[in-house]
Amino acid sequence: MKKFLFILFFTTLFSISIYADKVKYVFLFIGDGMSMSSEYAVSNFLYGKDKELIWNSFPVQTHMETWSINSYEGEYNKNNFNSEKGYDTKIAGIVPYPYYETQDAEEYFRNSEPTDSAAAATAMATGNKVYNWGLCFDKDKKEFIHNITDKLNEKKEYNVALITTDKFYSATPAGFSSHNVSRDNRKEIAAEILSKTKPEIVAGKNDFNEMNTFAALNDYYCLDSSEINKPQVFDLVNKKIFLRLRRYFVPDPIPDFTSKSFDYRNTNNKFADVVLYATKILLEKKKPFFALVEVADIDHANHDNDFNKMLGAMYELNETVKSIYDLINSKDTDMTFDNTIIIVTADHSTGMLRFRRYLGKGKLPIVFTTKQDNATIITNMQISYESTGHTNELVGCYSVGAKSDLFKKYINEKNIIDNTDIYNVLNEIIFNK
Ligand SMILES: [Zn+2]
Repeated sequence: MKKFLFILFFTTLFSISIYADKVKYVFLFIGDGMSMSSEYAVSNFLYGKDKELIWNSFPVQTHMETWSINSYEGEYNKNNFNSEKGYDTKIAGIVPYPYYETQDAEEYFRNSEPTDSAAAATAMATGNKVYNWGLCFDKDKKEFIHNITDKLNEKKEYNVALITTDKFYSATPAGFSSHNVSRDNRKEIAAEILSKTKPEIVAGKNDFNEMNTFAALNDYYCLDSSEINKPQVFDLVNKKIFLRLRRYFVPDPIPDFTSKSFDYRNTNNKFADVVLYATKILLEKKKPFFALVEVADIDHANHDNDFNKMLGAMYELNETVKSIYDLINSKDTDMTFDNTIIIVTADHSTGMLRFRRYLGKGKLPIVFTTKQDNATIITNMQISYESTGHTNELVGCYSVGAKSDLFKKYINEKNIIDNTDIYNVLNEIIFNK
């Protein structure tokens, strides 16, 4: 009996340890261009308080450097570099605006060359710093770099899903699924994704009509985002899904809201619904998965210095993360926080949004329009944008669930990680390396 219990003890221990080593479901959410000011703005708009977004409750909360080789002062050597030359903590600070602001830091952000989304996605997908514009491409060696999706495809244990509000071949999803000297070679990138990388689910906008036929030729079942609430008749297990996001708009913020905070033009196209739909299909395939989920409109709105649109896009990201978080908590599926990890981060900051006055719950900035010499001058007393481009500011990085503790290994004494650490964490989670 003793011997039996002894064996039972060790077999149980063994199976627990195998189970503990396996993270079945991995969600990486990227808010493209999500500056810390964007997070601050939407939290205050919704709740009248800072740090009330869903990821502000996660056990891992840190800041992340996003610099690319273009940002690096001097010659960048992969084996011997000083991260201070990519992001200078002594000038720029160890926490981002609005928690740190000096004239020197502001000047630094106006002058320091930032990453673009291609180099940032490559860093997160491959663990390599590269030059801007290249996708998984080492400009010095003129060779392509293996990304996390390539490794997953080799191992065949995980399905991969790329889900974005942008075109499916835009820089962020492309950095996780293609190899190209330039992100501008859109058609080549789209073709590589659909015919070579072949993620189980590809969801996003598409401007190339021929890619619909091309997707079908490559064994994809094509459907429209307006069809996701209708009963599906296709073979879920064996078919890959190409889901075209159509008529997608971020919701508009409602000032001084009482019953709801945002107004959707078309309820079929809430991004959270699209992501939930894709997740349920992935779960029905009964296979572990890695899902990259991007809300790109935060970047677009910050480039346009469009505060209201940025709030809408941030709300979409928060709602989407919340819907997955709630689904895990609901126990309606086999996802639990012991087998599923959620990571939420940004690829870079955009727009240098600054607050001159406090905006309370439901408050939108008041814009004064005046005419001077036939020119329209727009004055905003409460907020300002110091840039229409990206900046080298720190971004937020948050995680909850299975093995999220691994982040602690990479967070330095200043509570900062590097964007290449996203790859390091993913690599450990998925491949135990
Ligand atoms: Zn951008």
